[in-house]
Amino acid sequence: MASKVTFIGAGNMAGAIIGGMIESGVSPDDIMATSPSDDILAPLRERLSIHTATDNAAAVAESDVVVLAVKPQIMREVCEKMRDAVQARRPLIVSVAAGLPAETLEHWLGGDLPLVRCMPNTPALVGAGAAGLYANANVDDAQRRLATELMEAVGLVEWVDDEALLDAVTAVSGSAPAYFFLMFEAMEETGVKLGLPADTARRLAMQTALGAAKMALSSDKLPGELKRNVMSPGGTTERAVEHLEEAGLRRIMAEAMTACADRASEMA
Ligand code: NAD
Repeated sequence: MASKVTFIGAGNMAGAIIGGMIESGVSPDDIMATSPSDDILAPLRERLSIHTATDNAAAVAESDVVVLAVKPQIMREVCEKMRDAVQARRPLIVSVAAGLPAETLEHWLGGDLPLVRCMPNTPALVGAGAAGLYANANVDDAQRRLATELMEAVGLVEWVDDEALLDAVTAVSGSAPAYFFLMFEAMEETGVKLGLPADTARRLAMQTALGAAKMALSSDKLPGELKRNVMSPGGTTERAVEHLEEAGLRRIMAEAMTACADRASEMA
């Protein structure tokens, strides 16, 4: 990626993506991050050797890609203040902000811009994210590749061709780390009831989730087949899985994820 990328906002999400970009070989010389306070920028500058600025408009004036990585509550003000600089340069805009529609962002920035809206999740902070991306009609193929490269620095990227589907992405991956955290809590609680020390049960549950995900991602078999492969007739796994099915795990997941997607759509 020889394009100049500017991050507006230098917090957790920007720091994670920048770290991933540098690890995957992008030159720090092509990366800029902004924040109103140099206290936040100085460690990034020293640790990663990227460029930094406290003036968003000046930073945008030299960018091919502008990543909007401030909190949604201040996004309008931030966008409106750099509108003239964005319109003069017309970079690709990539927003990682939760819940702000592409059209709204484009409008705040003066309109008619190539804009990619991204729904990331928190495992991006450890390089294992899963993000859904949507491009508006002004985004060309080269810019699509650029956005893919950017977000692949912190994990998996999947494109959706309808912005409304980002609500489904929110249900499947954006909010989903918490479903697994809940599952770890439940497994730890029961592990303890069955006699294990809490930290032993917790580590076993977490490592098993990681292993199951790695196995499923690297296999050409569908999860249903992998599941059947570990369910010997009359065995322990079959007993547990039958119980989960009978108790309505699929219905519970469907209700929870539909509620999540509905809430995402209300907030947009
Ligand atoms: P954060 O609070 O860690 O970072 C926000 C940064 O914006 C801070 O460094 C702050 O100094 C900077 N900032 C404040 N005002 C500014 C201004 N006027 N100009 C430039 N920078 C300014 O937040 P975060 O967790 O990195 O979240 C950033 C965005 O990413 C949010 O819109 C959020 O919805 C989205 N997001 C984050 C996560 C996550 O895991 N953290 C997940 C999904 C989406």
